[in-house]
Amino acid sequence: MPLDFIPAVGSADFTEAQERLLTLANRLGRERFAPRAAQWDREASFPFANYDDLREAGLLALCVPREFGGEGADFATYCMVGAEIGRFCGATALTYNMHICSTMWTGMLADGIAMTPEQRAEHEARRELHFARVVKDGAIYAQPFSEGSAAAAGHAPFGTSARKVEGGWVLNGRKIFASLSGAADYYGILCTEECADHSPDMRDTLYIAVPGKAEGLTVTGEWDPMGMRGTVSRTLLLKDVFVADQEQLMPRGVYYKAAQTWPAMFFTLSPTYLGVAQAAYDFTVQYLRGEVPGQPPVKRRMYPTKQIAVAQMRIQLENMRSIFWRVIHEACASPGKDARMRLYAAHYSVMEGANDIARLAIRTCGGQSMLKDLPLERLYRDSRCGALMLPWTAELILDRMGRETLYESGERDE
Ligand SMILES: Cc1cc2nc3c(=O)[nH]c(=O)nc-3n(C[C@H](O)[C@H](O)[C@H](O)COP(=O)(O)OP(=O)(O)OC[C@H]3O[C@@H](n4cnc5c(N)ncnc54)[C@H](O)[C@@H]3O)c2cc1C
Repeated sequence: MPLDFIPAVGSADFTEAQERLLTLANRLGRERFAPRAAQWDREASFPFANYDDLREAGLLALCVPREFGGEGADFATYCMVGAEIGRFCGATALTYNMHICSTMWTGMLADGIAMTPEQRAEHEARRELHFARVVKDGAIYAQPFSEGSAAAAGHAPFGTSARKVEGGWVLNGRKIFASLSGAADYYGILCTEECADHSPDMRDTLYIAVPGKAEGLTVTGEWDPMGMRGTVSRTLLLKDVFVADQEQLMPRGVYYKAAQTWPAMFFTLSPTYLGVAQAAYDFTVQYLRGEVPGQPPVKRRMYPTKQIAVAQMRIQLENMRSIFWRVIHEACASPGKDARMRLYAAHYSVMEGANDIARLAIRTCGGQSMLKDLPLERLYRDSRCGALMLPWTAELILDRMGRETLYESGERDE
């Protein structure tokens, strides 16, 4: 059945499964997430009701492989669905991304990373437990790796440490901006193994699930940010937190390899912001046509300046959609330089473009449109947050692209 709406990624030749999943995301978004979005934003509270809906719809298991009872969606399909959710509630889409990554990294992505037969057997056994929690219990995973140091930018080992003890690990450290804090059942913590024979090294990164109820784990700090307020990204403190061996989400050394070989794993933050851009565009069209529900039917579409601004917004949106569409389909392990540059460019274009479109939307719709009973001012605040996300902030992408364009791997100036 063809779609009866245009998804945030644009119209395309979708598979049947993609049509079904996009329809589900659009219905949930339109009927449930959009009407609730102002509440999470006003209260800076977590969208629990949306997660109940995602769980009931089976969308928490979107990227759990089929053989483990999930939907088995691939990278591109997740990105399409994420964008559709972001169109209706940015905070839900962004936190959903954190959850999805914990299943995608251990699922499809890990399948493409070289492992020894022992590592593969260990991974197979442990991920079964982790997937069952999502599929059978509807568990939610968070993805806190930021620490306020160079680690989250990928330039230094994580300061959070893991010491090997009998039957498991003892974790100590601090994570900032932990979206879903207090709401997640498990936190996928990136930390550095303490090795007696050498100083901390990024190759010793471990990826371990810490249960939300673990002794020694506390959520602290205020949460009253400008945008993406429903993500509730507070600080996690880990003080001698013991976790059993089975909580390891990837075997030793594999996260480092994954981060090196699968750069698109960091692109998954983009779909949320393509959705936010689409929402700002949708609102502008509706507003200028005088069709926003609950508002007087005042038309503003007859002014040439409005028509030009909408055209500019559409051009930017189409550019974003095009590069987004291309990179989500070519995402793979070890992409060539050309594809890697395009991936960076796509991420930058979406993160900066979302804010540009939201900015134009407010300028074009005018003063009444930014009152808090309408969604535009929230979209504007949310849209600014994408470029701040490590490891690929808009600035760091410019850094990487410039350097990697002018220097081939290993090249130096004397
Ligand atoms: C709404 C929201 C939700 C978030 N959710 C999560 C989450 O769930 N999990 C998580 O791990 N993180 C999350 N983050 C955190 C995010 O990924 C960044 O870690 C955070 O925004 C960094 O803020 P900072 O002030 O510590 O940045 P800093 O590290 O102080 O950097 C400031 C700026 O300097 C630049 N910069 C940083 N490092 C370097 C460098 N080495 N060289 C040159 N320039 C550099 C960057 O452009 C950066 O924007 C979230 C952030 C936001 C805003």
